Amino acid sequence: MSYLMKPELVMPAGSLDKLDIAIQYGADAVYVGVPSFSLRARENDFRFETVANAIDEVKSRGKRVYLTINIYPRNLKIESLKKAIPVMAEAGAHGFIVADPGVIGLCKKLAPDIPLHLSVQANAVNYEAVRFWQCLGIKRVILAQELSLKEIERIRKENPSVELEFFVHGSVCMAYSGRCLISNYLTHRDANQGTCTQSCRWNYNVYIEEETRKGAFFPIDEDEHGAYIMNSKDICLIAHLKELMEAGVTSFKIEGRSKSIYYVATVARAYRKAIDGMLAGKPFDQNLLDELKKTANRGFFPGFLKKDPGQTSIYYESYRPVQTHEFVAVVRQRKDEKMLVEIKNRFSCNEQIEFMTPDTDGMLTILSIKDRAGQTMDCVHGGSGSAWISTAEHIELPAGAILRRPVH
Ligand code: SF4
Repeated sequence: MSYLMKPELVMPAGSLDKLDIAIQYGADAVYVGVPSFSLRARENDFRFETVANAIDEVKSRGKRVYLTINIYPRNLKIESLKKAIPVMAEAGAHGFIVADPGVIGLCKKLAPDIPLHLSVQANAVNYEAVRFWQCLGIKRVILAQELSLKEIERIRKENPSVELEFFVHGSVCMAYSGRCLISNYLTHRDANQGTCTQSCRWNYNVYIEEETRKGAFFPIDEDEHGAYIMNSKDICLIAHLKELMEAGVTSFKIEGRSKSIYYVATVARAYRKAIDGMLAGKPFDQNLLDELKKTANRGFFPGFLKKDPGQTSIYYESYRPVQTHEFVAVVRQRKDEKMLVEIKNRFSCNEQIEFMTPDTDGMLTILSIKDRAGQTMDCVHGGSGSAWISTAEHIELPAGAILRRPVH
């Protein structure tokens, strides 16, 4: 296998809706999981029945789907896993994403035809580890996020035939992925069972104790924002895809199964454009970085690609992500110059709003708003369901088109 083949863009899909948007906006593949056996369990609305539907849907559109079974299960979950693995195999995924050696053994026994991808949770950080996993039958290794470009190059050189996947965008752990106990300790929610509360991002008070005054703690104030001392910025490697491809990465992965469809659409489209531009031999389009800032982020940093980021990787400002634009609505249907939109934030008649589709951007002016019963409205509010709108420009956008506006 040549590792300089066209790299794959793998997007998260936490629901059927997000899966649809991810594919529409440019994903080559999506990863999904059922809550009991995958991480991001709390925000996941897939069940066994819907996963099978999701796989059929993805295949019918000529794309690939990977199922996550990447928890480290305790004894209690083993029997249910033994029953679930053949069912998941029957659903026909293109691969299982696994981390625990016991689960790998079970998958090999109960679903021998499904290719296995080693989860980032297994923290593969060197070429011998990758060789080890390949010898055990792993087809693709999702490398630890803490690796530098030089380390990736060496891993590829030593393992020319393995598929290598790398997270290029999204939230990261402040520890090696999943190898921290903050959530377990503070909330009894286990990161490796899919229930992490992201406690590392909380606001912590910091105290100092003078050696001879045991128990007298002096608070240390950071600033008015608090002390978010473990709150990592988001990794963003969109400007480094060419280097990663040349280093041997065959699959670019995006984090965020719990993020909104607006996030999925924005990030998928930006990375699709970056990959297509790179393959066409074009220089990197810096505007794509601004595009990524239009959706939720905690500031970007380039991971460990060139050097240890140290303190520059921490977002000290707030627990809450920031974004330059807000999600106004998503188009669900169109009919006779009218569009049925699901409302995410307030908008009103005569307002000018930005739109984006997989291929286009532009502005539209809201001419009329009617509720589902046909009643005319001047404005609508976020969370109030859906409404029919028409535009002064007679624009008809496809289902899945996004309406957004700058945040002032
Ligand atoms: S608390 Fe933070 S560092 Fe720990 S597993 Fe959760 S997200 Fe990762």
